[in-house]
Amino acid sequence: MEILLGIVTATAVAYAESRLALATDGQLLHTFTCFVVLPVAAIILGAIAASGIPVFLYASSRPTSCRAWIGSIFCGLFALIGAYYFLYASLPQHSSLSFLSFLIGFVNSGESTFYFRGHQLGTLASPAWNWIKFLIVAAGYGVGSIIPINILASRGYCERCSKHRRKYGLAHMSWGLWVETRDKLCSMTPQLTTMPSFSLGPYVDARAKPTLDYCPSCRTGSLEVVPVVMTSKGDKDVDAYKETIEVGPEAVSMLLGPLLPGGTLPPSAA
Ligand SMILES: [Zn+2]
Repeated sequence: MEILLGIVTATAVAYAESRLALATDGQLLHTFTCFVVLPVAAIILGAIAASGIPVFLYASSRPTSCRAWIGSIFCGLFALIGAYYFLYASLPQHSSLSFLSFLIGFVNSGESTFYFRGHQLGTLASPAWNWIKFLIVAAGYGVGSIIPINILASRGYCERCSKHRRKYGLAHMSWGLWVETRDKLCSMTPQLTTMPSFSLGPYVDARAKPTLDYCPSCRTGSLEVVPVVMTSKGDKDVDAYKETIEVGPEAVSMLLGPLLPGGTLPPSAA
């Protein structure tokens, strides 16, 4: 079922791209690259094309599966070939030409224009280069297509409740406040008392950036805390000192405070 929805989004992307090409000068949007080898447009289109799969899984509270990952890549490539197919189908004389010959002919006759800092450097109409570019674009669709499913998978899934976990970035706090909060979490959840003692080393001025990942149903989850330090180039996460702790329902309610119905903020945490 999720694959079916992915095919719907992929077909929509392919159709929209072919209409756009017909309305302009016949240039397919996915051929747009940055620095010649970075297929930006293909990555974005591939991501939109495959988005139907994670949207369906999320809406129906189903876990991500191997099938969903492979299906995503399939949908991305389906959108690529689909764009050519819709162009082919719009040809008045298409019955006299097979789709495969059309595709080969279309790619062969492509022309690439190179720009550098707004100046046109020249054009290249070489079939060999066109096929290399086709492969770069196909790889772009492949990479783009797994972005949406990867976002969903990175949230985690509560097997017990059959629900996708939610990711929630909490407000940054001073490191001192985090240490206090952490002590509070430990007293609330006995199994947390064995948490390793924590030293920030040279990063004494760090702030804590907590992200809560929790099941909306049973409210168990994990809390990831990364120290953030200010540098001359802006904020920087100190991943070497990142810690992740498992939290229970009581701790989740405390961390979320009054933001959710039923969530209570204990007076001591206010
Ligand atoms: Zn749960």
